[in-house]
Amino acid sequence: MSTALTPQPGIMDIALYQGGASQIEGRENPLKLSSNENPFATSPNAIAAIAKVTAEVHRYPSIDHLDLRAAIAEVHGLDPARLICGVGSDEILSLLAMAYAGPGDEVLYPEHGFSMYRIFALAAGATPVVAPEAGRRVDVDALIERITDATRLIYIANPANPTGTALDMAELTRLADAVPASCLLVLDGAYAEFFDGYDGGAALVSARDNVVMTRTFSKLYGLGGLRVGWGYAPQAVIDVLNRVRGPFNLSSVALAGAEAAVRDRAFVNMCLTENAEQRARLIGGLRQLGIGCDESQANFVLARFTDEDEAIKADAHLKAAGILVRLVKGYGFPDALRITVGRPEDVSRVLAALGSFGETT
Ligand SMILES: *Cc1c(COP(=O)(O)O)cnc(C)c1O
Repeated sequence: MSTALTPQPGIMDIALYQGGASQIEGRENPLKLSSNENPFATSPNAIAAIAKVTAEVHRYPSIDHLDLRAAIAEVHGLDPARLICGVGSDEILSLLAMAYAGPGDEVLYPEHGFSMYRIFALAAGATPVVAPEAGRRVDVDALIERITDATRLIYIANPANPTGTALDMAELTRLADAVPASCLLVLDGAYAEFFDGYDGGAALVSARDNVVMTRTFSKLYGLGGLRVGWGYAPQAVIDVLNRVRGPFNLSSVALAGAEAAVRDRAFVNMCLTENAEQRARLIGGLRQLGIGCDESQANFVLARFTDEDEAIKADAHLKAAGILVRLVKGYGFPDALRITVGRPEDVSRVLAALGSFGETT
């Protein structure tokens, strides 16, 4: 007797991840503002380090990521023993679900949370639980109300994607205080650097046994193509994750590029200064055009239109102008477009295109 191959429960409930578009048919070099990438590309030091290491790719990479962890620890003032590096922060978020959640367990996250949270929960066989948000902000009380004995993980991105809004330290601490010892609070800091004065939740991690912070090289550092992220966690959690992490998860190329990138503070500071200026310009310009837009603490903004139809038309109008942004219906915002903050000339192009769109409606 044979039965057909069947994937584990939950797997077939996963819808494929939808990435930001990268092409416009019949148009060379579109302005890509759909995936929150760095408009200034990558640190030249990182590119040089990557080029150098390619001569050595016949060698297996480091298993313990010692040099990269040391560089991150130095820059962020953290204990390197409590750091773990992954194939994007996605891998860390995924390992957390694999290690701590399974059938019968609940994984909690906010209504407009990053779409990977649901995927990681289902892949682990756990039950996703969604807490509503209030006014496009993560609602701490709504999350706390949904914590049960079965909750093993809570994922929140701060600042959040795609809203760009952020919780302050007092709100994060209030949430951490309400999380039972049997549950991990995961602070996804993919955009932490863009939130002025925010440590990504590092101090909360240092002070508690059940808080984890994840960070990435994909956004500020302009290394999305290299796939490097990291986590800072209690020692016991690091020890667990290292058991399920592949020993050679990061290539020598990825390790060398990320280490050079994190050490190039001049490039990072230039990008952060430009982002803050252009984000303010973009938000101000959108509001002047009558397009709703919250304050953002990230490297993108959420532009709100009258309805879904208008958002789709605005998206098409931007495409015709050679600009790619992100429709975020899948995140529960059918009437909005997420627009990555670009260089000064990019922001000018977006505002000009939306200005001419306004004249057509
Ligand atoms: C981009 C992003 C990530 C990071 O992805 P990587 O795997 O590090 O490239 C994580 N969380 C959120 C909310 C993001 O937007």
